[in-house]
Amino acid sequence: MPRPSPVRDAVHRVLRQEGAHGTTLDRLRELVAAAGVRADFSSVYRAVLRLEQEGDVVRVDLGDGVSRFEGAGSHHEHVKCDRCGAVAAVPGCLLGSVADLVMASTGFELSQHSLVLSGTCSGCRGGGGSPVRVAPGAGRRAAL
Ligand SMILES: [Zn+2]
Ligand SMILES: [Zn+2]
Ligand SMILES: [Zn+2]
Repeated sequence: MPRPSPVRDAVHRVLRQEGAHGTTLDRLRELVAAAGVRADFSSVYRAVLRLEQEGDVVRVDLGDGVSRFEGAGSHHEHVKCDRCGAVAAVPGCLLGSVADLVMASTGFELSQHSLVLSGTCSGCRGGGGSPVRVAPGAGRRAAL
């Protein structure tokens, strides 16, 4: 049994609750503080790395070099707004047959991937609250 850690528990809890996709460390520290757990930046960072190692938390790479994390759940891709930085989940995996193509052309069997789509969210396009729509293939950037 791992040693119980209030900070780790709090980080795990807030990441599971936080609906946002890809919580930055700064935001995570705020959430942990709001949950009533005193923790400095480095203890939050250590806690999230530990949770990542244990598979309870996944790192979300949005291609901008900022570390973001979210609770591990079913696999999905992310789309990010170029203007305001809003992030939404794209349900399911979009890679599909591309994984076969990669294997056929390189011989690599993929173990994981992060795929970040970017575009302009409905808010920034001046539309109402309609969900983010992305034209297939638009602004696609894959990091395999
Ligand atoms: Zn997500
Ligand atoms: Zn936006
Ligand atoms: Zn995928």
